[in-house]
Amino acid sequence: MGERLSAALQEKLAKRLSFYQDIGIDFFYRDRISHQPPAVSADPVVFAEAVDSPPPSSPGVTLPKPFQRQQPAKLAGAAPPPSRRIDVLPVAPGASLFEAINKIPDDSLPRIHADLGNDCTRCKLHRGRTKLVFGDGNAKAELVFVGEGPGRDEDQQGLPFVGRAGKLLTQMIEAMGLQRKDVYICNVVKCRPPENRTPEKDEVETCSPFLLRQLDAIAPKVIVCLGSIAAQTLLETNRGISHFRGEWMDFRGTKLMATYHPAYLLRNPSAKGEVWKDLQKVMAVLGLQGKKGSQPGKPS
Ligand code: URA
Repeated sequence: MGERLSAALQEKLAKRLSFYQDIGIDFFYRDRISHQPPAVSADPVVFAEAVDSPPPSSPGVTLPKPFQRQQPAKLAGAAPPPSRRIDVLPVAPGASLFEAINKIPDDSLPRIHADLGNDCTRCKLHRGRTKLVFGDGNAKAELVFVGEGPGRDEDQQGLPFVGRAGKLLTQMIEAMGLQRKDVYICNVVKCRPPENRTPEKDEVETCSPFLLRQLDAIAPKVIVCLGSIAAQTLLETNRGISHFRGEWMDFRGTKLMATYHPAYLLRNPSAKGEVWKDLQKVMAVLGLQGKKGSQPGKPS
């Protein structure tokens, strides 16, 4: 059996549980991971720098690990096989933030939106917000795009990807043979960071459980992460996007493809070809033919 929790830890635990209750997550289960014997991977890919964290001291409660970017780990050993999944990333042995949040039965986008509220003040981003941007599109989409956070136009309209980068994203979606209403589009943080700066760790940590619930509720076949913040958040890594861009990754059993953010493409149009290749992989999985002769951002 485990040791008794210290008063300080109990208080921390209570605060954390009340935070999760506040955002609509009520169920916590035993940690099924840290009590298992260490997995012996048949995969030759081994990480030199797995982060060592002690197992939780409470035997009955799985505490979500605070979101933590990990240091990039060097691959030890041979090049990974082409079919590798997330094993290229550094993995923490403890329960991750996302593993600890179990799926909420019958969760739905309206319920998640109601739990979040349009007047959320959970993090400092609310101070500069005009409108919270929850997400938009088909609640049963096979394809979800996840961006970083709203920009100025999105903040004004309360809708994701409606500015210049959004127009390019729309072209990309249409080049795939889809329309915006066929897919779902959302962001890691729901409120605009000041001057469009990168969302900070505490902001991502506070907001990303709602993203996770959105993804669980939609249960798409494929998630496309637009840019490094979305990819690093879902894959729980601080590795640069170039390490896994264009490769199939696994996000809790769902195929995840990370590609460049459309805003990056606006600054670096020569990278559009790379993105198109990534999207073609997505199209192959979804059985999409694409719009004839199209390449996003180029006149067809
Ligand atoms: N960039 C993003 O990451 N998301 C948006 O909604 C708009 C621009």
